[in-house]
Amino acid sequence: MDTYDLIVIGAGPVGENVADRAVQGGLSAVIVESELVGGECSYWACMPSKGLLRPGAALRGARDVDGAWQAVTGDIDPQGVFRRRDRLTHDWNDDGQVSWLRARTSTSCAGRGDSPASAR
Ligand SMILES: Cc1cc2nc3c(=O)[nH]c(=O)nc-3n(C[C@H](O)[C@H](O)[C@H](O)COP(=O)(O)OP(=O)(O)OC[C@H]3O[C@@H](n4cnc5c(N)ncnc54)[C@H](O)[C@@H]3O)c2cc1C
Repeated sequence: MDTYDLIVIGAGPVGENVADRAVQGGLSAVIVESELVGGECSYWACMPSKGLLRPGAALRGARDVDGAWQAVTGDIDPQGVFRRRDRLTHDWNDDGQVSWLRARTSTSCAGRGDSPASAR
């Protein structure tokens, strides 16, 4: 059985940084994540919400500027807005963040913190 100095439950921004700091400080750490490495911020909160807000803000910004507003002939394209959100969340694929985490911590695991986990 592997042993670690620290087991971090949840690979959101807080868990990722706690594990990273622990390893930088010379401890071994494993991080257990039941859904997506990156947590709420990357996939459900900060990133997608900012992605949804940006097209409206950009359009409003252009409409406020003389010389630019004349070029604005259409309205928001909802499908384009959702495509942008999906790109920012990498279509809810966390491979990139798993690699980032693996390079910094001892290992990462898929599973719940209250049940056996499998390394990935
Ligand atoms: C709409 C919205 C917009 C936001 N925008 C911003 C912003 O612009 N800037 C900002 O700073 N903050 C923003 N936030 C807040 C930000 O999302 C949170 O502060 C941040 O995600 C908290 O990080 P965390 O690591 O504590 O928790 P989380 O990101 O929730 O991560 C916890 C992780 O633990 C996992 N987990 C939980 N229980 C277990 C278990 N038993 N076993 C294994 N894994 C488990 C979960 O799957 C999750 O991945 C926003 C929030 C919302 C809702």
